[in-house]
Amino acid sequence: MLTSKAAEVKSPAEIALMRRAGGVVGDVLAALAARVAPGLTTGEIDRQARAELKARGVKPAFLHYHGFPAVICVSVNHEVVHGIPSDARVLREGDLVGLDFGCVVDGWYADAAVTVGVGRVCEEAARLLRVTRESLERGIAAARAGARLGDIGAAVQGHAEAAGCSVVREFVGHGIGRALHEDPPVPNYGRPGSGLRLKAGMTLAIEPMVNLGGPEVETLADGWTAVTKDRRLSAHFEHTVAVTEREAEILTLPAGQKLS
Ligand code: MG
Repeated sequence: MLTSKAAEVKSPAEIALMRRAGGVVGDVLAALAARVAPGLTTGEIDRQARAELKARGVKPAFLHYHGFPAVICVSVNHEVVHGIPSDARVLREGDLVGLDFGCVVDGWYADAAVTVGVGRVCEEAARLLRVTRESLERGIAAARAGARLGDIGAAVQGHAEAAGCSVVREFVGHGIGRALHEDPPVPNYGRPGSGLRLKAGMTLAIEPMVNLGGPEVETLADGWTAVTKDRRLSAHFEHTVAVTEREAEILTLPAGQKLS
């Protein structure tokens, strides 16, 4: 039988280590998101992220990954993912800014992303943020032992498309643990009841990238920045989760916060 790629099952002790990495990711992302404001450059966000890591004595996951030059991906408006921070990129009122960040603690990785509005955003941008955040919540709710990988994708895709948005196909979530990207790929689309059967102890990064317009993306000449082909807005939310027999445990929440 043709099945999806295998996924490693982590022990409770290993998940405890990932929980430490995830707590750092959640706290740093919350701190960075709170400082997003008009006039800030995306290069300054990278420096802030480096300072947050240094203060905690924690290593970045993205720096030098396949040559990526920063500790955080910052993707603005029609940029979908993998935006390179730059001192030339100044945030303006009404922009949407995606912050995608990971770290490694004692050899264990965590990865999460949040998209926030800069100051006041227009109604359709606010709607895209809400729909994408909800799509992540639906995907996480579908990730439980006994369900299948396709249930996660179908939950994300179903919610995004019912709201008139589209999901990106070229970039997907992933297993995570001792490496930033492990098997299996975790698409944001799929058929319910299809694909790999989920087991307690699997750790997955679920990360819907949702577009206001069409799903097509292209990569800019910098070799990294993915943008929507129609240049309409895109948003990205991500959590690292551990599958359990009940609700998945979100490993990348800021201290003291629960997913609403
Ligand atoms: Mg990821």
